[in-house]
Amino acid sequence: MSQIANIPDSGSKKRLVIIGGGFAGLELAKKINKSHYQVVLIDKNNYYQFQPLFYQVATGGLEPSSISYPHRKNFQKNKNFHFRMCEAECVEAENKLVKTNIGDITYDYLVVSTGCDTNYFGNDSLKESTFALKTVSESLLLRNRILLSFEEALNAKDDKELREILSFVIVGGGATGVELAGALADMKKSILPKDYPEIDFSKMEIHLVDASPRLLFAMSEKASENAAKTLRGRGVIIHQDISVKSYNKPCVEISDGTHLYTRNVFWVAGVKPNSLKGLEETAYNRGRLAVNEFNQVQGYDDIFAIGDTALLISDNSPKGHPQVAQVALQMAKRLAKNLNNTAEGKSWDKFSYIDKGSLATIGRNAAVADLGKFRFGGWFAWWLWLWVHILSIVGMRNKVSVFIDWVWSYLNYDVSLRLFIRPKFNKMYKEE
Ligand SMILES: Cc1cc2nc3c(=O)[nH]c(=O)nc-3n(C[C@H](O)[C@H](O)[C@H](O)COP(=O)(O)OP(=O)(O)OC[C@H]3O[C@@H](n4cnc5c(N)ncnc54)[C@H](O)[C@@H]3O)c2cc1C
Repeated sequence: MSQIANIPDSGSKKRLVIIGGGFAGLELAKKINKSHYQVVLIDKNNYYQFQPLFYQVATGGLEPSSISYPHRKNFQKNKNFHFRMCEAECVEAENKLVKTNIGDITYDYLVVSTGCDTNYFGNDSLKESTFALKTVSESLLLRNRILLSFEEALNAKDDKELREILSFVIVGGGATGVELAGALADMKKSILPKDYPEIDFSKMEIHLVDASPRLLFAMSEKASENAAKTLRGRGVIIHQDISVKSYNKPCVEISDGTHLYTRNVFWVAGVKPNSLKGLEETAYNRGRLAVNEFNQVQGYDDIFAIGDTALLISDNSPKGHPQVAQVALQMAKRLAKNLNNTAEGKSWDKFSYIDKGSLATIGRNAAVADLGKFRFGGWFAWWLWLWVHILSIVGMRNKVSVFIDWVWSYLNYDVSLRLFIRPKFNKMYKEE
């Protein structure tokens, strides 16, 4: 018989279990009325992560703690709320329970908001040899890899090795790839020559390899052109409409036959859903959980999916919604209202997405914005990007700390967090 996770009885209240405390799960947990439900939030990490700024942690611009927030702190004053740090393994819908690594958790309503993971498109060897950017810990690993490169460069035995160490290949021309390339180009120009005066940075190359026909494919053509022009102006070499075939260190082979020699391949080329196992086959579509306009998973009344892992195909969204933060937040708000309505004997409303536009930064003083009919780039878009992100970060201390770091970096043309901190293996936790 399997173990039951230790969670207080919900009494007369229905238990709502939320799996995943990212953009969607956290918003739902905040908005649900806890006098109607006992809420159990489970996440494999004990903190929320603000993914859009991972690249800034990776390039030494921000502390990881500025873009993360402990779940328990978020809900300190909430009654009928329980957080458990654990990993959900599968659902047993017939028994209304979730199997986790701390035991079974029963539910009355279940919400899956487990987001996505990095997609290597079936080429698992790339998982071992490249660096991803999907968690705070991966951002720190990337930061260490970037910093280690320059330390290694000082000891390069010849010019060939030096160029290999100083070459950075970023795979994926979406917002993350563009932002990472722009941040590395800024470092190359204004920071690295001061830290490493012995290194010839004219030998440092930043390559951006993108399989789509244009960068920032989800944004307008104007934004793509703007981003490509700015990045090229800052020395980034763009390989467009081309995919990576293989990486046998140090050689990256791309599909036009080009070989790039590097020790640093950063894989930000795509995502795949973390959909939970155990549901009927009809519940899954392209790996995501197929939901109706109330976010109920196909075939289930009491199981919902929101955020990146949910796929809602309707007349308004024939291909589904983009996997972005706004969709996750809006789905969570709608579901919270509907579940609160259930407890108050009111009816439900369908989810309807309001596209508030897209922003992507390309580096210092440069960003692109698509806001309705308005498409613009440059300094104003960059300021807008900064403010939107500061306002979106969870926690007042974090907002202030990010603001101070950014003002400091802007005035000094510098980032101050170039620390190479390596956790030593500890018996207390499993190494991932
Ligand atoms: C590098 C990067 C940059 C991005 N930039 C932008 C941007 O600029 N603008 C934008 O709109 N969007 C951006 N996105 C996309 C945006 O972050 C996602 O759309 C959003 O996070 C989706 O929210 P979610 O709640 O569905 O998933 P997430 O926020 O990913 O949350 C999922 C949560 O589930 C937990 N979890 C997963 N599996 C399990 C399990 N089995 N058991 C327990 N817990 C589990 C995870 O720990 C995590 O906390 C970016 C994404 C990345 C990776």
